[in-house]
Amino acid sequence: MSKSRQVIVESPEAVVGKKFVTIYYMGKKYRVPAGLTVMKALEYAGYRFIRGVGCRGGFCGACSMAYRLPGDYKLRTGLACQTVVVDGMIIAQFPYTPMHKPRYRIDDMKPDAGLVIKLFPEVTRCIECNACTKACPQGLEVMDAIQTILRGDLARAADMVFDCIACGLCSLRCPAEIRHPHLFQLVRRLYGKYMAPKAKHVEERVREILEGKYDEELDKLVELAKTNVEALKKMYMEREIEK
Ligand code: SF4
Ligand code: SF4
Repeated sequence: MSKSRQVIVESPEAVVGKKFVTIYYMGKKYRVPAGLTVMKALEYAGYRFIRGVGCRGGFCGACSMAYRLPGDYKLRTGLACQTVVVDGMIIAQFPYTPMHKPRYRIDDMKPDAGLVIKLFPEVTRCIECNACTKACPQGLEVMDAIQTILRGDLARAADMVFDCIACGLCSLRCPAEIRHPHLFQLVRRLYGKYMAPKAKHVEERVREILEGKYDEELDKLVELAKTNVEALKKMYMEREIEK
């Protein structure tokens, strides 16, 4: 993130008539409107995000941060796009969580917990402290998922971490130094490739596409995109949506 401009407001309350709060970001003090998310408050303060930002909707995990509240010893974690500023909040952002990603070919793997643990041996060091669960902005039962992997139930673990957004906050807190985002990604991939029931209708549609059944229709749409975008938009808005 870069600081692109400094907003100078002598008395913001007088100017805007809104309630303001004080936050401390990377050691600097800012007055920002109450009710904003941390991300919007920092933009109000003059920062332009070029790292540590993505979907702005709590789905991509790019804007992980740590903060402390006044009078509270606890180091809290969250997403800057989802966490609302609090008066006296002290904030630091993580551009990303450094982590080695093991290399594997999913085609050569098996849905076998032993293979998973071979790639992620640190999983066996879990001391069940639950710090990962407390750090997770998605509210996932992260420690239980780790224990489920250790018990060998990859299907259950994949379901438990389906909503992981790979923010890495759990890994930052983990004394066993487990690489949760990569581990959970592998578990979900193994489930999707080897364990989930096959979606017959998707296989059928892929086969039809490969056989060229929709080529003519697709060519017409591409042509329309070049010649009449409005007509294409109208078609899109009026498309039939499966109930
Ligand atoms: S499990 Fe870890 S990486 Fe996934 S969303 Fe929760 S804290 Fe982020
Ligand atoms: S933070 Fe690490 S060691 Fe603690 S419960 Fe979670 S996975 Fe286990």
